[in-house]
Amino acid sequence: MSERRAELARRLAELRSRISRACLAAGRDPDSVDLLAVTKTVPASDVAVLLDLGLTAFGENRVQEAATKVAAVAALRPAARPSWHFVGSLQRNKARSVVRWADRVESVDSIRLADALDAAVRREQETGERTERLPILLQYSVDGDPQRGGVPREGLLPLAEHVTGCAGLRLAGLMAVAPLGSEPDAAFADVAAAAARLRERFPQATVVSAGMSGDLEAAIRHGSGVVRVGTALVGDRPLTSR
Ligand SMILES: *Cc1c(COP(=O)(O)O)cnc(C)c1O
Repeated sequence: MSERRAELARRLAELRSRISRACLAAGRDPDSVDLLAVTKTVPASDVAVLLDLGLTAFGENRVQEAATKVAAVAALRPAARPSWHFVGSLQRNKARSVVRWADRVESVDSIRLADALDAAVRREQETGERTERLPILLQYSVDGDPQRGGVPREGLLPLAEHVTGCAGLRLAGLMAVAPLGSEPDAAFADVAAAAARLRERFPQATVVSAGMSGDLEAAIRHGSGVVRVGTALVGDRPLTSR
């Protein structure tokens, strides 16, 4: 076993036990929390190893890096069926590119972006490249700071309403990042309340994606169903190859 493979296996085992402990402490079933491996900045060879170790869902935040990596992983592990999630800020003119490989977009925070993704998906549906709608999560902004992405509290339900009218999209839930310097429990309690308001009006919006390397315990305490973990899993590793 290569050194890197051994390191990733060790980190994954530690992370899984962290998630289990957090679930037990919160009185939750460990199977109720999905792990999304955020593989931005790591090479395709690491993703291949993570697939070998049993992970199936991967998150990327740069359009070009991701497109290259998705193709490289498919070449390395042709039999695998990874699911790829886009979690970064997205410019509307990149919607068509993302829709080619993304199985879910977690960072929809404006009507304009929803419309661009919808148009890109419908175009693929027309050409037969895609049959299903694209599942999306609305990115919710806890502090309402427009610089950091996310739709503020008052925009959440109107955006959800809009998305449900898009023939190419399927509203699946909510994603959030705790603001820098915030108290994680307060931030994730707010996210949980927003998710509950969303689900009340749109029962299909069941997914809550919250919690990263530094704050996943707090997110799990407040009901998150998906933790998005980069650093704790892959280390502080610059992109060395694509
Ligand atoms: C990078 C990133 C993560 C993972 O963060 P870590 O602290 O490395 O675990 C999760 N979500 C989003 C949106 C990210 O950009």
